[in-house]
Amino acid sequence: MNKDIRQLETFEKRLGRSPKNRFHLLPQDIGLFLVRCLYAIIEILLSILFILVFTLPSLFILSIRKLFTGKDVFVQKMIYGADARPLKLQLFNVNAWLPRHSSLFIHVLSRKLSLVGVSFRDYETVNIMEGDPWLLRFKPGIINLHFIQSSSRIAAGTQNQTDWDYLHHRKGLSDLMLLLLSIPALLYHHTEENHDREIDIFGIKMLNIMMSEAIELIDQRLTDKHKTPVFFVNPDCLNKVFIDKDYYRILQMNEVVFPDGIGINLAGKMLGTPLRQNLNGTDMLPHICELAQSKGYKIYLLGAGPSVAETMKAKLQQKYAKLEISGTRHGFFNWEKEADQVISEINQAGTDILLVAFGAPNQEKFITRYGNSINANIQMGVGGLFDFYSDRITRAPLWMRQIGLEWVFRLMKEPKRMWKRYIIGNPLFLFRVFRWKMNRTV
Ligand code: UDP
Repeated sequence: MNKDIRQLETFEKRLGRSPKNRFHLLPQDIGLFLVRCLYAIIEILLSILFILVFTLPSLFILSIRKLFTGKDVFVQKMIYGADARPLKLQLFNVNAWLPRHSSLFIHVLSRKLSLVGVSFRDYETVNIMEGDPWLLRFKPGIINLHFIQSSSRIAAGTQNQTDWDYLHHRKGLSDLMLLLLSIPALLYHHTEENHDREIDIFGIKMLNIMMSEAIELIDQRLTDKHKTPVFFVNPDCLNKVFIDKDYYRILQMNEVVFPDGIGINLAGKMLGTPLRQNLNGTDMLPHICELAQSKGYKIYLLGAGPSVAETMKAKLQQKYAKLEISGTRHGFFNWEKEADQVISEINQAGTDILLVAFGAPNQEKFITRYGNSINANIQMGVGGLFDFYSDRITRAPLWMRQIGLEWVFRLMKEPKRMWKRYIIGNPLFLFRVFRWKMNRTV
């Protein structure tokens, strides 16, 4: 018996479980039983369809390729199968995700894999304990939540957390839903391991780093008292630079610009510089609050409509008991007449991190114009973030963000304001990226 399985069984014995009662998945009621039967039939039918549409054509094309180039049709991979047993897989020897994995549909019919399930764990490199022995009992799925999340590059939890998340929410025909959600994920997915540290779109350089590295960078700047403007750009911002040259220059000059949004993910893929992680202010704020709370940095909330920043302050302080919010102010004031007074308030409050939520490009212009007289060492433009955190506007549910459809949600919430930004803006942005790729001029 394999040592890993022995290790798993010892682990389970310690928890009072025996291998025999490991699978106690007998349906509790007839309805659930029928749903499971229906799902099993759908899974088999879909696998047969996928074998006909993807597996056989890929096999045919790669066999012809082997005849001409001698390149192998398959590459081998060993993963943990159900019950932590080693499972040897033959993947097609190509880079693109779908053709590469299309050889696996046959294993759904042989019941070694599920069409949708927990994510794959490499048998050779993942230790059974770090792979989480409980998770390793489940049959891995060709499509899994971890694959979908990593395709959209949102800063999500670890692989184990994502699998638990999947198992907790799994009910009825939810696996079919996940299968549908994987369609946009296939569009965004890339297998590239080497990432450039910068993504250059229209001459604006964005830092291509992970969320944890971005927080380290901010922490370092605060420790060094190195005054740093921090901006986020999404496709809408990059469309704006075509009509607002001041905004364009500001983004070009600035050193810390983070890529935000699924459109940037697609653009990065088109330009051969795939995105490592989607970095947006809304996902970054909890990390900033934890950093500020643990190191005693004070945050000032400047922007949004009347009382929005105050509501956000109350909500943040409920969640982060030791967080110091040095002040709040709405964002509708006359810069010429009132900026001095606003800045002196921010400075007198001893602010370390200033969040400016005026929307782009106003917030970037404000920070560039007044940044020198503001003492806060991190000055960050955060767009509509206060509206989300004060619950004035609901943010898209996690599953929509995971598949890169947050913009669809925002469009549904505020169609009048957003239709131009998304319906016209998104295709226009991708067209401009294509033109930029061809001749590198704006
Ligand atoms: N806003 C502001 N002052 C202004 C104009 C706008 O504080 O002069 C606020 C507005 O209330 C909203 C945010 O700026 O909270 C802009 O949100 P939007 O969703 O447009 O920003 P995005 O995230 O798209 O840049």
